[in-house]
Amino acid sequence: MKLSIIGTGYVGLVQGACLADTGNHVICMDIDEKKINALRKGTIPIYEPGLEEMVKKNAHEGRLEFTTSLKTAVQKSDVIFLCLPTPQSEDGSADLSRVLQVVEQIAGLVNGEKLLVSKSTVPVGTVDEIRQIVKRRAKHPVEVAFNPEFLKEGTALQDSLKPDRVVIGSRSKKAVEVLKELFGPFVRTGNPILVMDERSAEMTKYAANAFLATKISFMNELANLCEAVGADVDLVRKGIAADPRIGKLFLFPGVGYGGSCLPKDVKALVKIAEEHGSDLKILSAVDEVNEIQKTILLKKFATHFKNRLKGRTVALWGLSFKPQTDDTREAPSLAIMNRLLEMGVNVKAHDPIAIPSVKGLFGGRVSFHETSYDALKDADALLVVTEWNEFRRPDFARMKKLMKHPVIFDGRNIYDPDEMKGMGFYYYGIGR
Ligand code: NAD
Repeated sequence: MKLSIIGTGYVGLVQGACLADTGNHVICMDIDEKKINALRKGTIPIYEPGLEEMVKKNAHEGRLEFTTSLKTAVQKSDVIFLCLPTPQSEDGSADLSRVLQVVEQIAGLVNGEKLLVSKSTVPVGTVDEIRQIVKRRAKHPVEVAFNPEFLKEGTALQDSLKPDRVVIGSRSKKAVEVLKELFGPFVRTGNPILVMDERSAEMTKYAANAFLATKISFMNELANLCEAVGADVDLVRKGIAADPRIGKLFLFPGVGYGGSCLPKDVKALVKIAEEHGSDLKILSAVDEVNEIQKTILLKKFATHFKNRLKGRTVALWGLSFKPQTDDTREAPSLAIMNRLLEMGVNVKAHDPIAIPSVKGLFGGRVSFHETSYDALKDADALLVVTEWNEFRRPDFARMKKLMKHPVIFDGRNIYDPDEMKGMGFYYYGIGR
């Protein structure tokens, strides 16, 4: 099939590569000229394991092309996927301006029958709005569908090649058939393709992210209580996870969730509810708990140093919002670093991949280090913010020698408290 992807970011590039890999011809379009030029030369603008090889292979074999021309992308394809950003507006709602603007443009460009599919996460009712726009403007028939994206950054390729489920939101039989054919190769082991109406599909995407965020905030609150009552949240986690109704995944407490999806999608769902006269009390609290949790390490840090913080130096390990990605959007590390700078603390940061994503934001106020050990030199304390694998078994003796004070605030519970104490560290985890 001839496909185009509008918006070649985390979702667009991964989907474009996977759909090309199953034999389709895919044109990835983006307004960012630098990005498109780099992709044409084989340079991948994001870090995602396995993606570079897949993009290069499919580009080399002529199935994957890159363009900045919306006209080319629209006119040379039968199916058009929208993978555009839907960021948070000031009031918390999803900002649909880019999506709707591009839909208007696409409607004016169509040169034959097309299927227009949104992969962008959009509020309930948006697909109906898109349908109205194309009905009004397009000179050829355009079917519309919503196909929510469930990939996780860091494992995006695997998630797309073997999705748990594919959701197709469309009342158009034709659209459903086309999407089933496109995604069928990815669910050969029997994972379901769930066909539903557009509004239910739009709600499914928000519900999934809202539930995941709820699990995290629940565990974070519980962790803080465990600490207060003298329980160990890690034992409690295992104790509850053994119940299949609860499940083992997504129960790790930490420094709060971040990324380009959970924070904005929780806020957008609260806003959607508000617009429909409904007050989502649980989700409002989920968001509030998350904001508080981002500062949890700083509270521990202030208590340990008896509020004498000005002029101290902190090593911070982990900038991305989670391991295996360079994405730092809404990452807890940003809130932590900003707060530390306000307190007059010097910050020495390290991340295996994500330094280029944040370097520009701090204008020289934070020093960035190529190795985790460089960041530790003369530090009063270490803050572990992202659980990259390489942080799990470091050379503790070397760390102790490098640091001014052997104090570790472990925001991801990656070290064993007794072992750390045994080695002479002051150690603070989350909820134990
Ligand atoms: P992104 O910011 O990584 O990529 C969006 C791309 O669109 C950028 O490259 C940008 O330059 C481009 N763009 C912006 N305006 C454009 C325009 N007018 N024409 C063409 N291109 C334009 O965003 P993303 O993380 O890929 O997210 C895209 C959508 O998918 C969002 O709605 C998001 O909520 C959803 N989603 C994201 C993830 C994720 O893990 N990133 C997962 C599921 C769903």
